[in-house]
Amino acid sequence: MTAEGVASPVVRAPRGPQRSCRGWGQEAALRMLMNNLDPEVAERPAELVVYGGRARAARTWEAFDAIVVALRNLANDETLLVQSGKPVGVVRTHEWAPRVLIANSLLVPDWATDDEFNRLEALGLTMYGQMTAGSWIYIGTQGIVQGTYETFAAAARKRFGGTLAHTLTLTAGLGGMGGAQPLAVTMNGGVALCVEVDESRIRRRLDTGYLDLEADDLDAAIELALEAKVAGRSLSIGLLANAADAFPEIARRGVPVDLVTDQTSAHDPLAYIPSDVDLEEAARLRRDDAGDYARRAHESMARHCAAMVDFLDRGAEVFDYGNGLRAGARIGGFERAFDYPGFVLAYIRPLFVEGRGPFRWAALSGDPNDIALSDDAALEEFSENESLARWIRLARERVAFQGLPARICWLGAGERARMGHRLNELVRSGRAKAPYAIGRDHLDTGSVASPYRETEGMPDGSDAIADWPILNALMNTASGATWVSVHHGGGTGIGRSIHAGQVAVADGTDLAAAKLERVLTNDPALGLFRHADAGYEHSAELAREHGLTIPMSAHDGGSLR
Ligand code: NAD
Repeated sequence: MTAEGVASPVVRAPRGPQRSCRGWGQEAALRMLMNNLDPEVAERPAELVVYGGRARAARTWEAFDAIVVALRNLANDETLLVQSGKPVGVVRTHEWAPRVLIANSLLVPDWATDDEFNRLEALGLTMYGQMTAGSWIYIGTQGIVQGTYETFAAAARKRFGGTLAHTLTLTAGLGGMGGAQPLAVTMNGGVALCVEVDESRIRRRLDTGYLDLEADDLDAAIELALEAKVAGRSLSIGLLANAADAFPEIARRGVPVDLVTDQTSAHDPLAYIPSDVDLEEAARLRRDDAGDYARRAHESMARHCAAMVDFLDRGAEVFDYGNGLRAGARIGGFERAFDYPGFVLAYIRPLFVEGRGPFRWAALSGDPNDIALSDDAALEEFSENESLARWIRLARERVAFQGLPARICWLGAGERARMGHRLNELVRSGRAKAPYAIGRDHLDTGSVASPYRETEGMPDGSDAIADWPILNALMNTASGATWVSVHHGGGTGIGRSIHAGQVAVADGTDLAAAKLERVLTNDPALGLFRHADAGYEHSAELAREHGLTIPMSAHDGGSLR
């Protein structure tokens, strides 16, 4: 049901080789928009909420319907403009131009506060797009599972001799993104204790095989976790509790936890559940007095984060998982909130420095065999890359598809264009039953400014410089992407990030091949430029190896004056 009590439609992307739009670009946008709202994919589809607290795919159901009609009518030389989930115009462009341009949740800097955003949202003037919800390239929890797996693998290499066997990880939040954590920990051989306040989220992760079991209470959870830890057996345990209560209690009992993190929706004080209310009360309080709700949420975040620092003081490996908990805890009065680092700074930055990031593709046919073909192509194309091969094998075995079959696969500069070519050839040859939509998360090497996450601790201090994501969107628009988006506030919350996304379609034509070559070369190239500019010499070296020009680098410099 919608908020007005009207039955909401159940949306699923069409499958198969027949399209209802006038080109595959428009059809891909249509299918991926609908796929974001597929009940298998979205966390609360009736409210158009895809993941990440209250991140929506369209502003209202009326806006959704209007987008669908506009996409069906859109010519191959036209572009649909979407302003925070609402279609606002169609303009004549050209066939290399994106079919859709999207701007979500952007506010003028002095107005970029939670209160102002909530006021404007309540007036129906904006919506929260997170990263891949409002830009129509969310592919379910699997979209984050490789990144989460790699993050825990990096933590294992740094502190635990390369494996999480015989370690206990404590985390919270089993939502759209956070639900990947238990599987990522067990894939690394460890034990995960996952605190979640909403029973339905625990159930969902059990049903999809991301979580092994649910404990009856805290005592049982600790007993199960310690048994498995001692035995060196991988196991993930869900515990129904509020993290702001459970984390301090687990610390108080002196449970030997090795690794601590958190993926509650702390980026949004109205999505984080304060410790002293149940879910129903939380919904009522949020409606009746948002200011008081936010104050209580920040206080709880302070308690939750203080327990994480307590674990840090006892020698655990502790990291922030990109959800703004530290910033919220500081607002709640906890001064040591930033004592532990964010996960990008701690583990992911070296990948960004190489232009690597969460590349992904979805089979618009809906046929899992099209993903099997693409897996084979990736294994063949990158046969020298052992970690990629290990990932594809694990994903094949353990990652269930949600909605349209899709694959996440971190690839870097050069590699993405090669993979795009392989996918286009699969369509051209008729082996794949329909085109692929090829995109990525906004959490990527050259597409985001987020001082508490992707750009935390840049060596030149340029953490808050937000020109890069704007350049990314402009560049992808100029390069032939099928749809391009610029967003504000994804990941760590309103006022704390600006980011951009692109999706390009492989429909097997020469035109698609030419566009893919440019988009998939240029998009990660900007990551090399961004990191080279910040002082990472390795990025500059890789840029040179890829024949990219950096006008003011030592290599290309030389005075003309
Ligand atoms: P979500 O809204 O789908 O899930 C959040 C979960 O946290 C919900 O299940 C909710 O019930 C639970 N929760 C809220 N308050 C709680 C509390 N006090 N105690 C226990 N559980 C509580 O959000 P998501 O998509 O899973 O994202 C989670 C966070 O991770 C967001 O802040 C998001 O911005 C961030 N994020 C991280 C990455 C990454 O790469 N790590 C990527 C995208 C987003």
